[in-house]
Amino acid sequence: MFKERFHFKLVFSYLLVVLISFCIVAFFLDRSLIFFGISLSIFMAFGLGLFVSAQTMKPIRRMIQFVSRFAEGDFSRTIPQDSQDEIGQLAVTLNKMAQDLENKIREIQTKNQHLEAVFFSMIEGVIVVNGAGQVVSINPAIENIFGITKRSVEGRIFLEVIRNNDIFEIIKRVLAKGEFFSSDLSLSYPVKKIFQVNASPIFEKGVVSGCLLVIHDITEIRKLETMRQDFVANVSHELKTPLTSIKGYVETLLDGALEDKDHGRKFLKIVAEHTERLNQLISDLLDLSAIESQEGPLKVTVFDLKALVQKVLSNFQAQIAKKGLDVSNKLPSSLMVNADQGRMEQVLTNLIDNAIKFNKPGGFIMISSKVTENAIEFVIEDAGIGIPPNDVPRIFERFYRVDKARSRELGGTGLGLSIVKHIIEMHHGSVGVESNEGFGSKFWFTFPL
Ligand code: ADP
Repeated sequence: MFKERFHFKLVFSYLLVVLISFCIVAFFLDRSLIFFGISLSIFMAFGLGLFVSAQTMKPIRRMIQFVSRFAEGDFSRTIPQDSQDEIGQLAVTLNKMAQDLENKIREIQTKNQHLEAVFFSMIEGVIVVNGAGQVVSINPAIENIFGITKRSVEGRIFLEVIRNNDIFEIIKRVLAKGEFFSSDLSLSYPVKKIFQVNASPIFEKGVVSGCLLVIHDITEIRKLETMRQDFVANVSHELKTPLTSIKGYVETLLDGALEDKDHGRKFLKIVAEHTERLNQLISDLLDLSAIESQEGPLKVTVFDLKALVQKVLSNFQAQIAKKGLDVSNKLPSSLMVNADQGRMEQVLTNLIDNAIKFNKPGGFIMISSKVTENAIEFVIEDAGIGIPPNDVPRIFERFYRVDKARSRELGGTGLGLSIVKHIIEMHHGSVGVESNEGFGSKFWFTFPL
């Protein structure tokens, strides 16, 4: 309830002053003393007025001090409420206002901190540009992408900071039209990358006052898309080649070659070979897909690698004998390793299979190991045809083959080495090759110790 006590105090004071003046004038009605009486009453009224105004101003002054502190953001103390009059009411209202203000400021600060955390930890680069094309703010991702620092760019014209006309055109367009715009850009300087640039206008009182750019590095996504397209194209091609042959031979057989004993048998043999190739290709693809999707955890056990190599070599006994190869397993006896035995058998099978397939008749294969600083390295060396230097960096890619026709002829799918690489990387190791074209190759893989 609003009580007009303060007002009442004032009115009461003035009434009192007038009353006292009347009493004094009446008391000194004697004319000679009238002047003295009036002077005294004025003096007293003045004194009383001073006293009343000092009493009234005291809490107001104190209130001004507190309100100034509130204005500076200091809400640590509240205005004491000494009376129940309007001044007291004002103190209560101001304290409540200060409390609300403090809560609002705290809320805004928390929201700002959250926004800042998002802004600074975003993988996407963010740039805020004002209406004049000056950089207002950038986040650390932008610093990394363009090799600039926040301090050195803020306040400067965008083009002076990032010399990319395409991005600047996007900013100009958004500032002029006030509409969202998105575009993919290939950047060659300062980095060779592909970015998706999303630009949104910033409005202030309904007018475009700036532009917010979110720059997303899509280089890897694009690379993966290309790889996926290549993979599908490669797989389709690899499947189509034997299928076309099978179709051709089956049609020839149906057209009468089946009755021709010699040709019929020969054609059926070719169909069987192509079917086997298809089978091998699909089984390699399934292996690769299972490894790439990390299907099932590695079944890590401790086993003797030398014994495993011996087992794999014995599986290839016929091929080794056919080529007259000299094979030496120089691994130390009881070479215990911690790995997935099934997967390691696959690695050794693929590498030894290649060392046999691409070897020269009467050549050699040597399997050895050496312990390096923090890993153990296995080497499978052959005296085969070797790999041309230009092909070496790509040899572990899926479907990459130096001589496609030769690889197919030898029953290869071009997936063996990529399977090897994946399995070794799953074991936190690495693979590599050194080759001397025409003289042989050394494939190696390591395991961390
Ligand atoms: P493939 O099924 O064709 O053997 P890989 O992925 O195992 O597929 O090998 C890819 C290619 O690498 C082979 O086609 C061959 O050109 C080359 N290569 C692999 N191992 C050897 C080796 N020991 N000597 C020479 N070339 C090799």
